Amino acid sequence: MLAVQDVHKSFGDFKAVNGATLQVEKGRIVAVIGPNGAGKTTLFNLICGQLSPDKGRIIFDGQDITALPPHKVCRRGVARSFQIANIFPRLTVFKNVQVSVLSQHQKSGVLFKPADQLLIDETEKILDRVGLLDKAQVIAGSLSHGDLRILEIAIALGGSPRLLVLDEPTAGMSPDETKRTMGLVKDLSQKEGLTILFCEHDMDIVFNVAHSIMVMHHGRTLIQSSPEEVRKNKEVQEAYLGAEDA
Ligand code: ADP
Ligand code: MG
Repeated sequence: MLAVQDVHKSFGDFKAVNGATLQVEKGRIVAVIGPNGAGKTTLFNLICGQLSPDKGRIIFDGQDITALPPHKVCRRGVARSFQIANIFPRLTVFKNVQVSVLSQHQKSGVLFKPADQLLIDETEKILDRVGLLDKAQVIAGSLSHGDLRILEIAIALGGSPRLLVLDEPTAGMSPDETKRTMGLVKDLSQKEGLTILFCEHDMDIVFNVAHSIMVMHHGRTLIQSSPEEVRKNKEVQEAYLGAEDA
């Protein structure tokens, strides 16, 4: 579904992404891990079009999307959530998701009068999927941090993506919230066949969720393989021990 081929991105002289390669197969959960500053967020910005690479190619569904602007990448079926929540704090949870469902319908041109009920049904369905239906009428700005991050995922789902890209979905969460969020990620994959790419600096979180793990270090891909292979890999162990020493 997604192939990132030897992508590079510098900020001035600093090589934030310096040879990243990634494969995401349809229906899988793929995790990108690496210490803070490894280049994970920059890589996601390159994939989703917030940044364009200096070198390398990004292929989605067999088509070159390298350097397409974000709205075009989104229109192809890639939705992302950000490491920093991206919501309308004064609107209700329901409205936040409805806006996203609405824009999906506008782009596919099926917005006509009876669509009103359709929008409500679809919005409720998404809230139900993520476990926020009971908070539909809550003002988003008053949600707990964990619920806010879940709302972000719901907003991303409003666009009916085929590939969901999540930047540290559990950052700042309590252990319970983390468990709930990763349970949701698993469900979206297993029950709905959604393809998911997420990044995470905590190795423990990813090992029981991801089918495939790509390890980034200093902007470069060290390895992409199964959790078992990654766990055994010497270079990965050294990169993480090195990071802990620092
Ligand atoms: P990660 O998400 O793995 O923690 P990032 O992709 O955010 O890493 O950052 C990788 C490196 O690139 C960091 O050293 C960061 O300071 C640097 N960086 C990221 N964005 C910019 C930018 N816009 N300008 C300059 N440096 C940046
Ligand atoms: Mg990051």
